[in-house]
Amino acid sequence: MDPTKRARVEAWLQYADELGFSPFNRDRASKSGETAAVPQPQAEVQSSAQPQMMAAAAAPRRVPAPSAVPSARQASAPSAAPVLPASPGFSLFDAAERVPDDTLPRIREDIGECTRCKLHTGRTKIVFGVGNPKAELVFVGEGPGHDEDIQGEPFVGRAGKLLTQMIEAMGLQRADVYICNVVKCRPPENRLPERDEIATCSPFLLRQIDAIRPKVICCLGACAAQTLLQTTQGISRFRGEWMDFRGTKLIATYHPAYLLRNPPAKSEVWKDLQKVMAVLGLQPKRK
Ligand code: SF4
Repeated sequence: MDPTKRARVEAWLQYADELGFSPFNRDRASKSGETAAVPQPQAEVQSSAQPQMMAAAAAPRRVPAPSAVPSARQASAPSAAPVLPASPGFSLFDAAERVPDDTLPRIREDIGECTRCKLHTGRTKIVFGVGNPKAELVFVGEGPGHDEDIQGEPFVGRAGKLLTQMIEAMGLQRADVYICNVVKCRPPENRLPERDEIATCSPFLLRQIDAIRPKVICCLGACAAQTLLQTTQGISRFRGEWMDFRGTKLIATYHPAYLLRNPPAKSEVWKDLQKVMAVLGLQPKRK
């Protein structure tokens, strides 16, 4: 293996151990017949490693929207889809190698009846994700709410209905896109997922994105955006700007639940979605 690549992978594995990704690595290893890693107690996950990592990468990587140089993967994209170069610098997700020939069913199988983090104690159903496994557009939310927990499907409550309306306004159907969350089990009382829970569950999100290989990732709300961009900055600092996530265009906008509380913000979200539509060559739905 290339020495630079090896060093980055080794650094990632060390981070993974510190952050409590060991159960994830263990299960991947057991699938391939390798020696299983020793699971780390959850208490260790709440160490200072995650804040240090987040602080080290506190500023998300902005990318120029229209005039960037095409990458190898996106060289064949239509001119309407500006190509975004990856910025140099270490990133936990950047260093994570893709699982060869990974598929959504395989990822779901690996999750199993997961007890890797404490969210498993209060869930009814694991909410894995739903939609087109070859979607060009992936929406990432934060975590399941009450309705999602009962039904096992993301974004099916009031906020979900609004998201469906937003998708249809873009000229798409819900089945055309893929919808998932950072954590797959409902946080109690709909609180935000905690750092250790995000650290434990987000490798599955990473694999979902890698398996789908969308053209655009749209983060719904701060949790999803901060997780994928590894930043502590507030979403208002970069909402509506094109960012880079492992060579894929990423844009963050407000969560539909926020729009239910603040309807005037819908116009801002619509502007963000229009940017996505421009990249994907979509026409708005005729009324
Ligand atoms: Fe497992 Fe993720 Fe559920 Fe935690 S939130 S128990 S890591 S599936």
